[in-house]
This record gives sequence, structure tokens and C-alpha cells, in this order.
Amino acid sequence: MRRVAIVGGGIAGLATAVHLTDRADSVVGGLEVVVFEAAGRLGGNIRTDHTNGFTIESGPSGYLDNLEAMRRLIERLNLRTDLQRADDTAAKRFLYRSGRLHPLPTGPLGFLGSSVLSLPGRLRVLLEPLARSQPQGLDETVHEFACRRIGIEAAEVLVDAMVSGVFAGDTRRLSLESAFPKMAAMEQAHGGLVRAMISKIYRRRGAKRRARRLSKRGESVEEMMRPGGPAGPGGTLTSFRRGMETLVERLADELGDAIRLRHRVVGIEKSEASRSGFEPAAGPAWRVFTDSGETFEVDGVVVAVPAAAATNLLRGIDRPLGELVAGIVSAPLVVVALGFEESDIGGAPKGFGFLVPRSEGMRSLGCLWDSSIFPGRAPAGKVLLRVMIGGAHDPGAVGLDDETLISVVRRDLSKTMGLAAEPSLTRIYRHPLGIAQYERGHGARLGRIDERLDEWPGLWVVGSSFQGVSMNSCAEIAERQAELTLEFLRS
Ligand SMILES: Cc1cc2nc3c(=O)[nH]c(=O)nc-3n(C[C@H](O)[C@H](O)[C@H](O)COP(=O)(O)OP(=O)(O)OC[C@H]3O[C@@H](n4cnc5c(N)ncnc54)[C@H](O)[C@@H]3O)c2cc1C
Repeated sequence: MRRVAIVGGGIAGLATAVHLTDRADSVVGGLEVVVFEAAGRLGGNIRTDHTNGFTIESGPSGYLDNLEAMRRLIERLNLRTDLQRADDTAAKRFLYRSGRLHPLPTGPLGFLGSSVLSLPGRLRVLLEPLARSQPQGLDETVHEFACRRIGIEAAEVLVDAMVSGVFAGDTRRLSLESAFPKMAAMEQAHGGLVRAMISKIYRRRGAKRRARRLSKRGESVEEMMRPGGPAGPGGTLTSFRRGMETLVERLADELGDAIRLRHRVVGIEKSEASRSGFEPAAGPAWRVFTDSGETFEVDGVVVAVPAAAATNLLRGIDRPLGELVAGIVSAPLVVVALGFEESDIGGAPKGFGFLVPRSEGMRSLGCLWDSSIFPGRAPAGKVLLRVMIGGAHDPGAVGLDDETLISVVRRDLSKTMGLAAEPSLTRIYRHPLGIAQYERGHGARLGRIDERLDEWPGLWVVGSSFQGVSMNSCAEIAERQAELTLEFLRS
């Protein structure tokens, strides 16, 4: 029987474990998977609170339903009927600037008439197709890229706010290529963003015509019409009726006894047999030590914890590897959830919520109007809002006490939404490791990490600190990692 240890019970670790157990039969002699989780619960960043009739996410709101790996995971877990797609009103998004909320335009015409940028700022965006091309060999920051292509005002207002929404990050430090690889690819393939969008519109029109012809002939066009498919919608924010933790609960159900909660891994080492040059078949190659004093002998170890936690484990095996991983920083983040009586705030806000560019000098990064995005998240007559605070620009926010956080957030909500009412519910969720920041050089760093890992067959690092910060990326990485692990075990 071969054995694989997964260190970390977040989505990346759990999904890898499920894919591996599904294919355990393909390993001669069988495969046992063990998931070690330091906390008393699974899910890492993903956690849903059910309190006083509210359904509150402590971390992620949902995922975009346009990625095949996530769709396959949902199907595999039989979760299709539990899905909850964002309400249509969530298409309305706002940005706070110069004392008021501006609706974000959804198309080119709307953009021209929008008040979100000054007239010169909007005209500069229109010059995007004429922008100079990317300097060769430079891992551009998001800010450099945005200034070059759409001008400084759009960079400091629109792009800065978007980056707050995804990474809670600093545009001047994040690498475009690593943090927004699709955008980098659009420029490379089409020579610019506008050209890429025009080409996409033409491709979709063609695909829609093809889909109509095929469906008239009675042929199935499901694959073409799926979200993210050539003729389908681009992707919708999706969660589950009982919140994102549903996904974690189902992954845990599948894994059953394979999970060891309250088992913090404190050390990993190559076992004596393989160190002294025996073939791996002579015995398990790795030893995993937990804080409970137990030692587990395994053939492979998938480290699926944030970089800060992985560093300590990897330094003991290979110091340069540990140092490389230590260089991946993260931005702490706090989520402040507030429940209000609808009648106290002049009615429920309708839309996705708003973001605040850092140039506005406001501490809150933005606010999600959760009960509008996902109806049912607040009891009838009540409203649920979640404000994000902290991030790369304000890492100290995670250390503020509850009272200060609530007063900062209420002051910001008063300025932005005119909310003066006392909330009927407040909950605070601190994420000290928050969101990984793919800073300039992240791609090269990953390359060097892979080179070091090549020296240690049977050891891998996966998860949001490395290959993609979204849950979608974690689902994709998990599929790939399971495949790599099985290949290794079979070889
Ligand atoms: C506030 C917030 C909002 C977000 N919103 C979204 C969103 O809307 N959509 C989206 O797609 N993504 C979002 N994300 C990102 C998303 O949550 C992450 O990409 C994803 O959950 C990361 O999963 P992971 O498995 O890589 O790591 P984690 O969730 O960090 O899991 C790692 C696990 O490892 C455990 N661990 C750590 N050290 C050890 C050890 N030594 N031994 C054993 N176990 C250990 C931890 O306890 C944890 O359970 C958000 C993140 C945050 C913080």
C-alpha cells in the first residue's frame, strides 16, 4: 500500500485528496491518502457562519462558474442542486470617488458617458490601441501595465479598485503576468486589450451562430453554451444556498477517516532508507511529524498550506527552497459583517457593492452587498453588508480591536452610503495570512522553487500562495497535482 500525506485542509489540499482517492485503484497495491489539518475545522479561508438568520461568509463569497475544473469538482461532489448563482442585480457595481458612489459602466458607450473618470481620463483610455508595447524581458507591475495601456487616472482609480477587490493588493508591487495572466495573454496575443475584446466579440458571435445551426439540427450544444464556453455567458459569481462551506463539508464527507484534524505538521524529512540511496521501493521516502508527537511514513507529501506556513516545513528539508517560499508575502485582511434593519437604512441597496480606490484615503477597501448578491443571506426585512479592510496598503488593520474596526467601517459606510443607523448584528473575521501577493518576480521565483523541488521527488507545494489565488485556481491545481502524484507513484 502506498501512502500520500496532504498537509493542509483548505480547498487545495482537500480537492487534491479527493481526486487522489478517486483513483487509488490505479496504484498497484492501493493508495492511502491522509490529510493533516492544524485547526479543529477544515476549509482554511472558506467558512460560513449561520447566525440569527444570517448566512455570513468569513472569507470568499463565491467562484466564477466558467472554469472546467471547478465544474467537474461540483459534479463529482453532487452539488449541482445546491448552487446559488448571484442575482441579476449584482451586475450593478459601484466605485466610490470624490464623495459619491459612481455606477461602473458595463459597455463602451456607458463608459464614454460615465462620471467614474474625468473626460481626459476617459479619452486616454480610448487611446489604448495605440499604447506602446510591453518592454521586453520586464516582469511589469500591474500599475506599470495599466499606466502604459490606459493612462495614469484609470490605473489609479479603476485598476487600483479592481486589484483591491481581488488581491487586496498594491498595484505597484503585483506582477501583471502572475496576478492577471489572462490580461497579459490578451496583450501578447492581440497586441492590446481593445483588440482582444473585439476579437472575442467576433469569436462569440461566430460560435453563437454555429450553436444555433447545430441545435436546429437537433445536435447537443451544451459544451458550447456552458458558462465560459465559446457561445456561453462569460461566467457568473456562484456559491451554495447554505454558503461556501457546503463545498468543504462535501469534500470532508468524501474523505471521511482520511482527515486528521488538530494535527499540525511540524516537520517533514526524507526517511533514512531513501537518504542512504535505496530505491524508493525499499520503503516510504518521507516522514511527516505532527505536533501531537506522531510520525507518519509516506511515499509522497503534498504541502498545501500558505507560504508562511510552508516555509518552516521546507527550510528543514532544503534551506534555499524554504527561503524562496519565504519570499512569497501575503496581505492580511479583515471582513467586517454588519446586519441592518432595512427600514433603518431607507431600503435595501441593490447591486454587488462598491470598491474604493486607495487614492480616496479611505480605510475600507470596499463593501459587498451580500443580501442583494445572494438573496436569502439575511432574514426578511434585514440587510447584510460585508466590508473588507486591511490588505497590502494597510496590514496593521488586522491588529485593530473590534470596537475600532466597527467604528472605522461605520464611518466609511456613512461617507459612502450615508448609513447612520446602528447595525443590529456585527461579526468580525480576521485573516492574518489573508491573500497571497504575487509580486514582481513571482513567476521566476516559482521556476526556482520547481527546480529545487526536482531534487526532492515525492514532495510538492500547491495552493493559493503559489499557482493562483482564487478557489477556481485551487480546483485546477488540485486536478493537476493529483495527476502528478499518481504518475510519480506509478513510476
Ligand atoms: C477575505 C477573503 C476573501 C476571499 N474571497 C474570494 C472569493 O470571493 N473568490 C475566490 O475565488 N477566492 C477568494 N479568496 C481566496 C480563497 O479563499 C483562497 O484562494 C482559497 O480559499 C485558498 O485555499 P488554500 O487551500 O490554498 O489555502 P487555505 O484556505 O489557507 O488552507 C490552508 C489550510 O492549511 C492549514 N495549515 C496551515 N499550516 C498547517 C500545518 N503546519 N499543518 C497542517 N495544516 C496546516 C490551515 O489551517 C488551513 O486550513 C478570498 C480570501 C480571503 C482571505
